[in-house]
Amino acid sequence: MIRPTLHCPCDRRFDEPAFTYDTPPAGETRFDLGAQTYCRSYSRCRLCGHWYAEHKLDLANLYGGAYVESTYGTRMRQTFERILALPPEQSDNVGRVARLLAFTASFFPVGKKPSLLDVGSGLGVFPYRMKAAGWSCTALDPDPRAAAHAKDVVGVQAVTGDFMTIGPDRLGRFDVVTFNKVLEHIEDPVAMLSKASRHLNPGGFVYVEVPDAEGAASEGPGREEFFIEHHHAFSPASIAMTAERAGFRVEVLERLREPSTKFTIRAFMTLAPTGKSI
Ligand SMILES: [Zn+2]
Repeated sequence: MIRPTLHCPCDRRFDEPAFTYDTPPAGETRFDLGAQTYCRSYSRCRLCGHWYAEHKLDLANLYGGAYVESTYGTRMRQTFERILALPPEQSDNVGRVARLLAFTASFFPVGKKPSLLDVGSGLGVFPYRMKAAGWSCTALDPDPRAAAHAKDVVGVQAVTGDFMTIGPDRLGRFDVVTFNKVLEHIEDPVAMLSKASRHLNPGGFVYVEVPDAEGAASEGPGREEFFIEHHHAFSPASIAMTAERAGFRVEVLERLREPSTKFTIRAFMTLAPTGKSI
């Protein structure tokens, strides 16, 4: 069964088997798969370096309640506070915020306090820190508990909804739209990223973080970048193609190893001048 993927120009002519799993790797969340047998694999494209998951498991119920329940249980507040209390050198979010503020300083007029939409906000540590920097933040999450947590604990505006289907009138427009470790969870990341243009103010930008496939693969199949909830792991080329196809242009692209040990690619994107996707 071939699932929707990046639809890169390689057209699967250069793909090859990479990793195969018949049991969950250590550390992976044990999702309730019902009667389904655990079996999945990753393929990689030799040309563009993109990796994508292939399996027949029905993950339709992964998100919403099941994902939050498996990942955070009922302890969202405690987990939020624990991550917030991490020393700066151990915090992925501290580096993320610093990078965004540095880019913003050279992108927007001096003194501007941008509005931000964080898609798939989860625990909300990132919007919390951006709010502390003076930004106006809105958290969007498909799970009502995550949205309630964002509103009541994180203290930002929060909307419950699916970014793929939510109407522009319910969400509005922002100076910055962020996807922090979100696109890899989506079968069709181009479709999701392309929707960002509906919520972006003129002159704004999109910030994306995704797993770096090559970096992660160098440490073998047990890396979290290849866990079951991820359909994709990217290369610099494949995230650039994803951006192009979604109607964006990559302004800055960086590979990094985060304090949490995650291998990550981050990219700042603006709407392509033609406003047209390829
Ligand atoms: Zn390819």
